Amino acid sequence: MNKRFHINTMGCQMNAYDSDFLAQSLIKNGFSPEKEPSRADVILINTCAVRAKPEQKACSFLGRMADLKEKNPELVVGMVGCLAQMKGKEMMKRFPLLDFIMGPRELGRIFETVQRIFDERQRILATELSVEPAPAVKCAGYFQDQTSGFISIMEGCNNFCSYCIVPHVRGREYFRAPKDILDEARHLLKEGIREITLLGQNVNSYVWKDQNKWNFASLLNALSAFDNLHRLRFTTSHPKDLSDDLLECFVSIDKLAAHIHLPFQAGSNRILKLMRRGYTREEYFELTRKLRNAKEDIAITSDVMVGFPGETEEDFQLTLDLLQAVEFDSLFSFKYSDREGTPAAGMSDKVREEIKIERLQRLQKLQNRITLKKNRELEGRQLTVLVEGTSKKGGQLTGRIASNKVVNFDGDAQMVGKLVEVVIKESYLNSLKGEAIR
Ligand code: SAM
Ligand code: SF4
Repeated sequence: MNKRFHINTMGCQMNAYDSDFLAQSLIKNGFSPEKEPSRADVILINTCAVRAKPEQKACSFLGRMADLKEKNPELVVGMVGCLAQMKGKEMMKRFPLLDFIMGPRELGRIFETVQRIFDERQRILATELSVEPAPAVKCAGYFQDQTSGFISIMEGCNNFCSYCIVPHVRGREYFRAPKDILDEARHLLKEGIREITLLGQNVNSYVWKDQNKWNFASLLNALSAFDNLHRLRFTTSHPKDLSDDLLECFVSIDKLAAHIHLPFQAGSNRILKLMRRGYTREEYFELTRKLRNAKEDIAITSDVMVGFPGETEEDFQLTLDLLQAVEFDSLFSFKYSDREGTPAAGMSDKVREEIKIERLQRLQKLQNRITLKKNRELEGRQLTVLVEGTSKKGGQLTGRIASNKVVNFDGDAQMVGKLVEVVIKESYLNSLKGEAIR
């Protein structure tokens, strides 16, 4: 049928993984990808609902697509992902151009849904949360230019942190069978992928029972046995579930990158309790100590929020204090925003927007100093880079060291997909400059 589709992906790595799933499902059914929305027959917007900002971005994209739909009424426009799940009905009313809405759990029905719209021209709302996510689609050649790939090992979350919409839009925890995960890894490696990142909202809670009893550590061990896998990563780990088994993996699995993303969210125990995070700042400190004991130069990165309801200047100071004490390699920092239906949205004592902005600026200034200091410590060191391709500025090769920092250096195209030893010559806030050892 030779139809073309365009996907606009917002949000986290999970959404990037879901968009690859959607693309491969459509390609397998004869569609082809199209970069330019105006030339597409199907436009999909894969949305994020975690904060207010991506929601605004999704709405403005749909606003821009309205002209295209007016010129071409045959065009199919669908909103998928977390915002679709959260506000599907409202979005259908607000944007008449939308032909369908599809939540994260229903993505397995993408082809059938698009096809039905072409045939019957009726609007469809697919937001069932209790269905099992569809198995991976494996489309030969799809990842041919990539060195690094994702595998989702779980969907949903059971934690219900008081500010978070994820459990409401991605449903309860659902784990994928080890056999399916290992099959997907085999496929990615055959396609030329050399680094795999395991994805989930809380990967460390992974469990499965077949003839064996699996946990996250056994999954890492099984994956590390693949010969042509150079590096293994995972994200995200919840501090309350960081097991000794996982700490041991950092010691025993060479391919496991010396990096952990371990969101802490706030430095004050009072706020952590209101957030329902299930740990204290002291427990968080203890985990970082154990991690560094297990692997001396492990990179620790994190997520933090400012302006949670009731956050005082003293609470905020405790967050800054935690930053200084732990010295994260890098940090994702956000202003808290109300998410309808979460307990925090109903809390009184909201922090004013200008205070949130001011706190975020102070926090980011401090973190930039720490990041730069940590990057400077790498100057003169010999480190292993997994080469991903040529850098955006052109000319140089680009890749990542185990701690996930980007390194640019001169080299030849044959190095792409390989591990190359590099000496770090200069360091900046967001990247490092290296020299390959010939
Ligand atoms: N599962 C991960 C965890 O437990 O840390 C995080 C997943 S969430 C998609 C990514 C980040 O978004 C969170 O770590 C948090 O910092 C931020 N976030 C979640 N809800 C938020 C909200 N209502 N306002 C601002 N940031 C939020
Ligand atoms: Fe959201 Fe908390 Fe689950 Fe992370 S652990 S996805 S922050 S509810």
